[in-house]
Amino acid sequence: MLVDLRIEGDKLVAIAPAGKIDSSGDSSLDLQGFHLWPSLIDVHTHIDKSQVISRIGPLGASFANAREAINADRKKYWNRDDILARMDFSIRSAFAHGVCALRTHIDSYEGQAELSWEVFAELRKIWNGRVTLQATSSVPIDVYSTPYGRKLADLAAATEGGLLGGVLRRSTDHNYIFIENIDELLDAQFILAKDRNLSIDLHVDETVASDIFHLEQVANAVIRHKMHGRVVCGHCCSLAVQPEDKVESVLALCAEAGIAIVALPLANLYLQDRQIGRTPRLRGVTALHEIRAKKIPVALASDNVRDSFYPFGDYDPLETFRQSVAIYHLDQSLGESLGMLGPMPAQMMGIAPQASLSAGGQASLIVLRAHSLNEIVCRPQIDRIVIMNGQEIRDGQPEFTASFNF
Ligand SMILES: [Zn+2]
Repeated sequence: MLVDLRIEGDKLVAIAPAGKIDSSGDSSLDLQGFHLWPSLIDVHTHIDKSQVISRIGPLGASFANAREAINADRKKYWNRDDILARMDFSIRSAFAHGVCALRTHIDSYEGQAELSWEVFAELRKIWNGRVTLQATSSVPIDVYSTPYGRKLADLAAATEGGLLGGVLRRSTDHNYIFIENIDELLDAQFILAKDRNLSIDLHVDETVASDIFHLEQVANAVIRHKMHGRVVCGHCCSLAVQPEDKVESVLALCAEAGIAIVALPLANLYLQDRQIGRTPRLRGVTALHEIRAKKIPVALASDNVRDSFYPFGDYDPLETFRQSVAIYHLDQSLGESLGMLGPMPAQMMGIAPQASLSAGGQASLIVLRAHSLNEIVCRPQIDRIVIMNGQEIRDGQPEFTASFNF
């Protein structure tokens, strides 16, 4: 449908069928019938790890290699200036693409967490009103059974926009393996979260090994602790390699628990079934269609950008969507799939959805130089017009030439 709209200040004050708004005397922009979208939301990122790729050596093949590389980088470079510059660069990149809200996981090892969270809090204030920022602690799940886990929960609770995160891997394991006492470890975390009224955002089963599958235990923990609608699970890769009846029963349990799932296709394609010199056979992505069939909220998100887990990316949800069309076979449901870039992640972040453009709402929108979804998928849309709070963003992307070697 062709529309005209009127923006006054930072508000969209009118939207009507084309030709119905009197624009005489106004400064106007002819959108030429191009697609007009609300601003976008990226609900799973790692901006503290991001933008280190130029100073990391050759990348290995495994998840463990990626973790070792980022740990070495952290020990060498992660002072206040470095973290601030890389996080800010990442937020600027997202903003220039039309992102109005972003959640980041923050590596929260003892000795690192306070500094990284302090920088996050500072940036949250700086970007207030332009990009809504949330942060979630990223540590192996067994950390919450230690005294430091309690301190970390206090830190997240004391930070505006803070949540309790975690990776379903133990501190002593180099790789994902099935955790026998997962119920006990989840209980420890869920109790800390509940006591502080924190929501939870987990990295779950980032592996294609079918015997490493904890999603069912997470759903049971949500039900046990009555945390319905407060838990987000990212990745869920090994869901896709379970027998069909298991997929069905576990997703039914997730639906009952009100779990939301974040699909992270680019990092999963890169890191799963990865061996140097061998063509990957498995896609590594979650069972997106089956999740949607159960009406479970699901979002697409960036995950790692320009680090050892994924050396590419630019915080552009639209680019993730474009690639997801082929990865997940979204061509039969293109229009419906757009919800994974706005309304669904907004629901997960608990913020007002920018699901649709409506009169009286914030004038934050994107004009795409395309007349159909097909054209949007066919071209990269790097020339989109981004309008945030009524202002066109003309800065564009920050230059990659910026140095992060403080
Ligand atoms: Zn992640």
